[in-house]
Amino acid sequence: MWQILKQIAATGTPREIRNREMALAAADEARRQAGRPGQPGQPGQLGQPSQSGQPAKSGQPGRAGVGAVPEPEAVARAEGHGIRQEILDLLGRALCIRVIDSGSCNGCELEINALSNPYYNIEGLGIKLVASPRHADMLLITGPLTVNMRDAVLRAYEAAPHPKLVVAAGACACTGGMFKDSYAVCGPLAQWLPVDVTVPGCPPRPAELLQGILTALRSDRL
Ligand code: SF4
Repeated sequence: MWQILKQIAATGTPREIRNREMALAAADEARRQAGRPGQPGQPGQLGQPSQSGQPAKSGQPGRAGVGAVPEPEAVARAEGHGIRQEILDLLGRALCIRVIDSGSCNGCELEINALSNPYYNIEGLGIKLVASPRHADMLLITGPLTVNMRDAVLRAYEAAPHPKLVVAAGACACTGGMFKDSYAVCGPLAQWLPVDVTVPGCPPRPAELLQGILTALRSDRL
């Protein structure tokens, strides 16, 4: 019977499949708990709400049911709503970021790109990467600022509207990193521009980049 239910769970829309899989996982956990000596309660019936009438939580005997929301996901959703509301309260619209590569190895860009994937989902948080500094609230700058890129970066900074927050992303933008003493480098960035937040790391992880963006957003300059 259990196997048949799992086979049924493999069909349907992605949302239906996800809901069923979450319910199956919750029921699995409840069955495991019920099998342990000294554990009170009975496993919930699949497809029926818990007896208390409350939404079931995974890992709690007798409370499993369809529509159960695992706690970490609920926490992540609440945090996401909080960030989106914070941005709306501050700007009344999306936070627009122009990413500028001042001569990086592209490792930092890969991590910045990951912010747009379904896991980090920054657009869902109300953060948008834009194609022009003229549309940007914030410049997210990577790389050690090479001599060849210096004028372009300075022009982009001038083109951005005030208050033009600047986040230096990665060790190269923060200190020059491994390219620090190169003849082709004139950074670090802070020697040429007012930098609001530095995000160290080579490269920094997407979560660290997001933290840096939010730190700049929460500065007094907005
Ligand atoms: S900090 Fe590391 S990953 Fe980022 S541009 Fe510099 S060398 Fe590349």
